Amino acid sequence: MKEITSSEFELEVLGGGKVVLDFYSTECPPCEAVAPKFEGLAALYGKDIKFIKMFRQQNKPLAERLGVRSSPTLLFFDNGVQLPVTLTGGIKRSDIIHQLDSMLSKERVQEIKQEIKPTVSEFDVLILGAGPGGLTAGLYLCQAKVNTVLIDIALPGGQVSTTHEVSNYPGFIDPQPGYMLSHNMSEQTKQCGTIYKVAVDVTKIDLEKKEVVIDEFETVRAKMIIIATGTSPNLMGVPGEKELKGKGISYCATCDAKYYGDKEVVVIGGGNSAVEEADFISRFASKITMVHQFDALTANKQAQEKLFANPKTSILFSHEPRSFVREGDKMITEVEDLKTNTISKLASDGVFVFIGMKPNIDLFRNKLELDQWGYIKTNEDMQTSMPGIYAVGDVISKKYRQITTAVADGTIAAIAIAKELN
Ligand SMILES: Cc1cc2nc3c(=O)[nH]c(=O)nc-3n(C[C@H](O)[C@H](O)[C@H](O)COP(=O)(O)OP(=O)(O)OC[C@H]3O[C@@H](n4cnc5c(N)ncnc54)[C@H](O)[C@@H]3O)c2cc1C
Repeated sequence: MKEITSSEFELEVLGGGKVVLDFYSTECPPCEAVAPKFEGLAALYGKDIKFIKMFRQQNKPLAERLGVRSSPTLLFFDNGVQLPVTLTGGIKRSDIIHQLDSMLSKERVQEIKQEIKPTVSEFDVLILGAGPGGLTAGLYLCQAKVNTVLIDIALPGGQVSTTHEVSNYPGFIDPQPGYMLSHNMSEQTKQCGTIYKVAVDVTKIDLEKKEVVIDEFETVRAKMIIIATGTSPNLMGVPGEKELKGKGISYCATCDAKYYGDKEVVVIGGGNSAVEEADFISRFASKITMVHQFDALTANKQAQEKLFANPKTSILFSHEPRSFVREGDKMITEVEDLKTNTISKLASDGVFVFIGMKPNIDLFRNKLELDQWGYIKTNEDMQTSMPGIYAVGDVISKKYRQITTAVADGTIAAIAIAKELN
């Protein structure tokens, strides 16, 4: 692996052979997450592909010329030609491998795969999920000098990092951008010394053995596990949804509302998330039609009043979506009037869906006692039905799912575990 500057670009990158070029920045958590993966893969693929790093801030004109807009960004070159794939953000090891493999012959890829040596690391506590619940548990355990590892399939921060504004987290007079709040939480835990393994593929979870396999080859063992995997948005399960997910149907206003400046949008749902996110989307969109299955919204009064006062928003009560299709650059949402059973079509530029959440328990669904909605049952110390396995945050059975309640769960689990380990 080699670090270069713009002046060496012609020779080192365009001069021939296969090259992967990492534009990184300092004070960049996603860059820190990708660095060990890049280094590990350089050792594996280094005979066939040159691994080169470049500091983006000091080589800005070249970065801009190559279309690099954020850090980290990985570009790939073959014999002086830039390949069409660009990796950026929370880059997984498997994403890089996929691209590297496509640059080599099948036989060579097989030879390289045989060289991969499985690794095993051991910790006192393994936390699965780096949202507010997991990060808080990590902080408390670290401060109690408990050797802890945090594993997340994405970058740290959880749902807060995609929440546009948080106005109810104590300690801040003004509303905080969600990504800043989660960044600060994550940095506090990381700077304490908790080990992070983030933007990884979680291949296998064995709760009995207290073992998690990441990126297929790395086994992480611990004496105790805290599950803090949170929830994911519910899908509607109607025709067209799967196919158009990310291509006109979105589940995240913070991520996608900005693409709908002066455009018309349909929002599905009527609870707090739907109403608050519709309010946010209205900063960009010219018109919002909400589709809600009941004849009244279920969001709190304050949020409802704000929505009713918003001239850009109208609501179709007692309607449910039946299908989605794309016609040219328009999204067509077919909706049924539940009172008359008549079907009509809504044309819009995009659809946002906010119809509740489901717990992320797929990799250990049958191992723990769950409530009737699939959330993990815990006792007051956040212990699950299996010894040594704790669970915190939105993934557990409880009445109120908020940042403050996830943070409280993480605190309790960490204190209980630190005492038990002592
Ligand atoms: C749109 C929206 C707005 C919100 N606004 C507010 C608000 O204003 N105030 C408030 O208090 N609350 C708000 N909430 C709720 C709040 O975000 C959650 O209660 C809180 O994030 C829960 O924290 P958590 O740590 O339990 O889970 P999450 O934040 O969901 O984090 C879970 C983490 O686990 C990871 N993960 C998932 N599966 C796995 C796996 N198999 N292995 C490893 N890692 C995994 C995920 O990548 C994620 O990083 C909002 C939620 C949404 C969706």
